Amino acid sequence: MNQYIASIDQGTTSTRCMIFNHAGEAVGRHQLEHTQIYPQPGWVEHDPLEIWARTEDVIRGALADAKLTGQHIAAVGITNQRETTVVWDKNTGQPLHNAVVWMDTRTAALVTEMKEKHGGQDAFRPQTGLPLATYFAGLKLRWLLDHVPAVQEAADAGTALFGTIDTWLIWKLTGQHITDVTNASRTMLMNIETLQWDAEMCAAFGIPMAMLPVIKSSAEIYGRTSADGAFGAAIPVAGNLGDQHAATVGQACFSPGEAKNTYGTGCFMILNTGHEVKQSNNGLLTTVAYKFGDAPAVYALEGSIAITGALIQWLRDNLNIIDSAPEVETLAATVDDNGGAYFVPAFSGLYAPYWRDDARGVIVGLTRYITKAHIARAALEATAYQTREVLDAMNADSGIPLTALKIDGGMVGNELLMQFQADVLGVDVVRPKVSETTALGAAYAAGLAVGYWQNTDEMRANWGEDKRWSPDPDSDASTEKYRLWKKAVTKAFDWEE
Ligand code: ADP
Repeated sequence: MNQYIASIDQGTTSTRCMIFNHAGEAVGRHQLEHTQIYPQPGWVEHDPLEIWARTEDVIRGALADAKLTGQHIAAVGITNQRETTVVWDKNTGQPLHNAVVWMDTRTAALVTEMKEKHGGQDAFRPQTGLPLATYFAGLKLRWLLDHVPAVQEAADAGTALFGTIDTWLIWKLTGQHITDVTNASRTMLMNIETLQWDAEMCAAFGIPMAMLPVIKSSAEIYGRTSADGAFGAAIPVAGNLGDQHAATVGQACFSPGEAKNTYGTGCFMILNTGHEVKQSNNGLLTTVAYKFGDAPAVYALEGSIAITGALIQWLRDNLNIIDSAPEVETLAATVDDNGGAYFVPAFSGLYAPYWRDDARGVIVGLTRYITKAHIARAALEATAYQTREVLDAMNADSGIPLTALKIDGGMVGNELLMQFQADVLGVDVVRPKVSETTALGAAYAAGLAVGYWQNTDEMRANWGEDKRWSPDPDSDASTEKYRLWKKAVTKAFDWEE
């Protein structure tokens, strides 16, 4: 088959385009970082036009890398950093503000106000599956309407369009104003049962529904690229999944009880719970895993951790104790353990399972003994402990303890971390052959929509194990060290006033 599927993976730190063959193998790729804009403590923005420019560049780069042209591409899938909020004017095509990024905490005061007004953090869980938190897109949109006159003016004039990054890119690629159920499930504006915008939620948040995109399934033809764009051909854009949902598909977690954990800027564990909406009693989110065309939606429980790989970038960019992210492993390996230091990276508050926007980062257990190597180790360990907290919540909510965890994302090349992760969890940690599962999942959705792949069995057959880490029975990581971690977390609470 001389046809391939292209996938655009627009992540928090970078944008990549990958081209896959029928076996799910990457035959071409290109990746570019974009600017992180920090206007104030706790605020994080991206320039939507820069992201669009990077997207066009990585499309051209991936085609060149694969020695292909747009004529060889059967369909395009999109996957994206979720919740990151863009508003633009439909007449000018210009963004009306920088994108407000998912981890940005500027909506904290709004969250407090909404909790008081509507009956607490979990007031909207029945309709949305989500707690009130700074994370979700609807509140970021409310903030833009309140604080950026151009946004409110365009909304009044009926020319403002809202979107998460998937919507922005699909609009740029095809001219259609649409999103998919997975991305819409992160706004707090979609009803988790009907999979449509919820008029009461929009009223509670004061969001004009005319700004919102049409909600589609994750796998259907949304429109075609323009022949004079980066692909140089009219190709169906046919897949759309939020990044964590795409990784769930790329990891072939198609049966209830199957879970994956993605280690990128943050860490996101998703457990397939089947066709029924399952509410969490342990601080997880209820989300749509995926919906392929007319088939019923598949739901999931999600444990979201805001800061994992971002902490390694912080060691690199803010403390300058390493020159590159992989170097953290070399530095951490120069010491046997954390020396008693624990690092709780609550830079954006704490997400699952706590949902505390009053928390801020702390390093505890400092003595004269601690070196930068211990700090590097504590930073890596923080990822493993936070994941354990989420896994415990998953097990409590589902009642069926996980026996192994499929992993992926930028951090899973870190051997020291992955062994420590298995030790802290007490279960095997398994890395697949294709670790680019996010891009692959979006390609699968697009390929399914155009008949390139027939069903999920074909995708499952493509999944293969690359490496497995098993818990060391002599490790005290899951007992004593984890107990101290839990104590450290309490020191991060109640800081931001
Ligand atoms: P995203 O999709 O969120 O942008 P990626 O999956 O591309 O993230 O992963 C990038 C993240 O992984 C960065 O935050 C980086 O610090 C971290 N990272 C990359 N390589 C390593 C490594 N060897 N050890 C630890 N962290 C790493």
